Order: sequence, then structure tokens, then C-alpha cells
Amino acid sequence: MNNVFDIVVCGGGMGGVCSVIAAARKGISVLLVEKYGFAGGMATSGLVNPFMSFRRQIQKADGAWECGEGDGDIIASPIFVEIVNRLKSMGAADESGQIFDDEILKFVLDGMLIESGAKILYHSFVSGAKINKSSIDEISLTTKSDNPRIRAKVFIDATGDGDLAYLAGFPYEMGAGDEGDCQPMTLCFRVGGVSGFSSFGEVMENLNSIYSDAKKSGAITIPRENVLLFRTLRPDVIHFNTTRIIGKDGTDSMELGQAEIEGRSQAMSLFSLFREKSAFFKDAFMLKMACQIGVRETRRITGAYKLTAGDVVGAKTFGDGIARSSYPIDIHNPKGEGTVIKKVEGPFYEIPFRCLIPEESTNLLMACRAISSTHEAHSSLRVMPVVASIGQAAGFAAAEAVKNKKPLSEIDGKILKSQLLSAP
Ligand SMILES: Cc1cc2nc3c(=O)[nH]c(=O)nc-3n(C[C@H](O)[C@H](O)[C@H](O)COP(=O)(O)OP(=O)(O)OC[C@H]3O[C@@H](n4cnc5c(N)ncnc54)[C@H](O)[C@@H]3O)c2cc1C
Repeated sequence: MNNVFDIVVCGGGMGGVCSVIAAARKGISVLLVEKYGFAGGMATSGLVNPFMSFRRQIQKADGAWECGEGDGDIIASPIFVEIVNRLKSMGAADESGQIFDDEILKFVLDGMLIESGAKILYHSFVSGAKINKSSIDEISLTTKSDNPRIRAKVFIDATGDGDLAYLAGFPYEMGAGDEGDCQPMTLCFRVGGVSGFSSFGEVMENLNSIYSDAKKSGAITIPRENVLLFRTLRPDVIHFNTTRIIGKDGTDSMELGQAEIEGRSQAMSLFSLFREKSAFFKDAFMLKMACQIGVRETRRITGAYKLTAGDVVGAKTFGDGIARSSYPIDIHNPKGEGTVIKKVEGPFYEIPFRCLIPEESTNLLMACRAISSTHEAHSSLRVMPVVASIGQAAGFAAAEAVKNKKPLSEIDGKILKSQLLSAP
């Protein structure tokens, strides 16, 4: 394999995929390195569903802000919207574009990556970085066949955890407060064969009542206040985002593995409980547990600007605002029960380009949830449509840097914003 590229994107989640496509469509040589045999990140490996709202908020008569409903309200990046439209055209997403088929998403992303002209290297893990004065010279990969070293003009870290920035030694923060507690992990799972109900609300009520009784009696000890469940594209299949694993570090393989085991155990205890107590579960079966536990929060790489809770809630916009979100602050309690929600009080807030560049870095950009932010702001920007927008911006900026032979510090965020806003 050729070991020199213009741009190397590490990690093929929604951030990585959108940065690869944005850059490769500019005719630049791009390599995607992804540890699994498919792209999508949490959307596929973690079974995370649905795409959280990607519409601006509209102010109601009582002054409250609520998510818009029409296509004119969409604030997501064009590449993300294209992904959703391709899913819809295959009957693999609902009308809102939020609930999707994760197996078909893998196929759609393969297609878009191949069409972009990028080279795809699946089953390859980014395991090292050689740095020279704030510039990454090369990265090393661990693959099935060898451990190649890859060089590029610009590297994009889309690993979710900020693995590349960490390996290159850039500063980062993790979690909340002095103890650095991160949001809990969740192993998502799906149950099929659920039947006999007249509305989804009826199932929600039934399962929550069973769960609440089981919590009171001590039959269930999951540190979560209620059952978080979602519709899927099939009426008889229910998606559960209900396990909660606290106190584990998603950047530590031993703890991550322990969390997987604990997640499966919690999933089975919920499934057994509902099968025993809910009439809707009499023919139910465990359809699927995610092949990887969902990790909400790990490293946040320090950049020239750190997005704050005030920016999110205050719907702040920036001259170099390259991505938009109306998703609230949404913190699952790192220590146990409870979830903190704080709404965005405006149509949307923006994420400055400065949050994507690790401090001092000359050729590394972040295109995942690990951008520069506080624990609170991270809990909002982490949702998939927003990460996709961050990814598109990073890919676009990296391509500009390569085409114009400029270090990232010379990419003007204000011009980038206007280019992204006028991009088809
Ligand atoms: C349980 C849970 C529920 C959630 N619910 C929702 C929801 O309902 N809606 C919503 O929109 N968002 C939700 N989110 C948030 C969202 O799923 C994630 O924050 C988002 O997917 C992050 O995208 P990313 O591209 O930054 O990282 P990821 O999706 O994690 O992608 C990172 C990619 O990099 C790869 N990778 C990692 N390390 C390496 C390495 N060293 N070498 C090579 N490849 C590597 C991974 O395999 C992966 O493909 C949820 C998250 C969790 C955990």
C-alpha cells in the first residue's frame, strides 16, 4: 500500500466519514483508517439510534424554544443530510430521518466513501504517532498483516476518544470536576417479537412500571432512574438505551472490557424481567446486543477555544462557527441515577473552528466528540448529526490547507464558515 497521503482520517464514525467525504470530494488523496470492518462508529458498532434532532429551534408563543419540524429547519451539514436521504430512499430511515437501519447504514457509508475516491483501510488500529515540533510526521497502525507507518500533510483524529491527539502528546481533559468522572457507558440492545400493544406509549408505560417495581424490590440494581426505549423501523422491535455502567474509563482496555461484561449482564437482567412480567414480551427474543459498548465521554482535547455550557444554553454564534446544534445539554449522571437536561435558548448555537485544532498543533484536526469543550458543552455537541457537521468542517478545512499549502493555523475560520454555509 502507498504509505503517503494528503490527508489521513483516523476513525470512521459519523465525524470521520463526513471528513473523509468532504476532503476526498475535493480531489485530494485521503486514507480512512478504521478499527472495525465497517464505518458508522457508535451508529453501527454501538447500535446508537436515533439520530438526535438536527433541526433549529422555533420560539413558541409562551417564549419557550422547541425543535422545528420542517426540512427548512434543518441545520445539519449537507453530507449528513445526504446520508439520511440515501437511507430514506432505501426505506432504511423513517420520515423524520432520525430512526434508521444500522445494517443498511454500513452499506450506505461504504458506497459514499468509495464514490468519494478515498482509500479505505478497515481492520486497522491507530497505535502510535511520531511528532516533530507540534507537527505529526507519521502514525503507526496495527493491522492483520503488518504495522505500517503512514505519512500525511494533515491528520484528522475522528476516533471519538481522541486517540491520535493523545498518542501525539497534545493536552486534554477528561470528565467533570477534580475526579474527572465521565458520563456512564451504555450497552444498547434490541428486543424483537414484542406484540399485543396498541401504542408505543403503552409499552413505555408498562415497562417503566415493571422496572420501577423491580427497582423498589431490589430485583434490579441498574443505577438508572427509568427505562429509556425507542421505536425502530419495525413495530415489533424495540431499542433499549437503558443499561448504565458507571465509574469505568473508556480509554482503559481492562475497564472497557469489564464494562462490556457488566453491560451484557444488565441487558439480560432487563430482558428476563420484561419477559417474565410484561404481556407484550411473551414471544419476545433478544435480537441483538451492540458489538461494542457505548462510550459517551472520554478525552476532550484542549484547543484555542473551549466551548462552554453558557455558549450552548445562550445559543452563542461565532465568526468562525463551523457547525450548528440545537441539542440540549444532556448529562447522564456519572455517579448513578438522574439526567441533567438544559435546553438551548435560541434557534441553535455554533461551534468555533478553534475548538477543532489542538493547541499548538500545525497539522492535526479533531473531527469527533473529543473537540475542545467543557464536560457540560460536550454533553450537547456529542450527538451524531453535530459530530457529522464537525467532521465535514474538518475535512473541508484540511483540504483547504493541503490545496493552499498552508498550516492549519493559517486557515481563516471566518472564510471557512462562509464557504461551509454556501457549500451545496
Ligand atoms: C449509549 C449512547 C447513546 C447515545 N445516544 C445518542 C442518540 O440517541 N442520538 C445521537 O445522535 N447520539 C447519541 N449518542 C452520542 C453519539 O453516538 C456519539 O457521541 C457519536 O457517535 C460520536 O461520534 P464520533 O465520530 O466522535 O465517535 P464514534 O462514533 O465513537 O466513532 C469513532 C470511530 O473511530 C474508530 N476508532 C476508535 N479508536 C480507533 C483507533 N485507535 N484506531 C482506528 N479506529 C479507531 C471506532 O471504531 C469508530 O468507528 C449516544 C452515545 C452513547 C454512547
